[in-house]
Amino acid sequence: MSIPPGVLEALLPRQNRPKPTPLASFSGGVQDVTTADSDVLYNKYDLLCPRPECGSIILLSSVGKLLERPSVTMEPADKTPSQLPSLPEPPANTEWWLITPSPMEFENIGFSKPVDLLSSQDGKQLKLLLCAQCDLGPLGWCEVGGTEFWLSCSRVGYRVD
Ligand SMILES: [Zn+2]
Repeated sequence: MSIPPGVLEALLPRQNRPKPTPLASFSGGVQDVTTADSDVLYNKYDLLCPRPECGSIILLSSVGKLLERPSVTMEPADKTPSQLPSLPEPPANTEWWLITPSPMEFENIGFSKPVDLLSSQDGKQLKLLLCAQCDLGPLGWCEVGGTEFWLSCSRVGYRVD
């Protein structure tokens, strides 16, 4: 889906719209966006839709746990939206925010229809996570009926101020 320029700006209130900082802007990578509690690393900043004109709040700080696990092919390589970075080819690892146990933990999140896992190890069906406000995605995934919600660290924006 492509949205004509200016439409989102007109629809969304300009006041207090958070500004998403991409992960690539942090020199220390994920280390710069985590906060430690005991041995667990949590998201230090609120997570936002990465689309600069949107910035919808997806998750408040300290709700997502940082975990490294194999990448997931969420869309064919030629279908990656231009606003989103490509993820490594599975089974290479990448960094994720894990949110449990239900979508109630999110401030705002949208779901796709169930899709077949493209690089399936086990044939499970997934739902892809999208921005609830502008539909930008896939930002992450969950198993249908599952209790784990995985957001790609590189596909969300960070609310630094
Ligand atoms: Zn959005």
